[in-house]
Amino acid sequence: MTLEEIVRLVKEGKFYKSSAWEKKRLEILERDNHECQRCKDAGGYSKGNVVHHIKHLDDRPDLALEDDNLMTVCEACHNALHPERLRTPEASKRRQITPERW
Ligand SMILES: [Zn+2]
Ligand SMILES: [Zn+2]
Repeated sequence: MTLEEIVRLVKEGKFYKSSAWEKKRLEILERDNHECQRCKDAGGYSKGNVVHHIKHLDDRPDLALEDDNLMTVCEACHNALHPERLRTPEASKRRQITPERW
């Protein structure tokens, strides 16, 4: 997938539905043994089912499918990694429209 395609998909809110992402997501989950890397760093263990962009997709679409920019986390950690999701009513409104999973 080219950067132009990624940028277009992100803009249209379709990136997380693309087969390229689905494939990459499974790859990363497997790489990380479905284990939350943030809990692991803290010395704990949680099963992870979310693949998080370390540099956010909106800022760095060029890193959208880079292994080094992706990590498996659990729901709780993912919420902690995205405080912006809770900050403004504007943001939550936007969230309802875009069915993305970060
Ligand atoms: Zn975690
Ligand atoms: Zn994320």
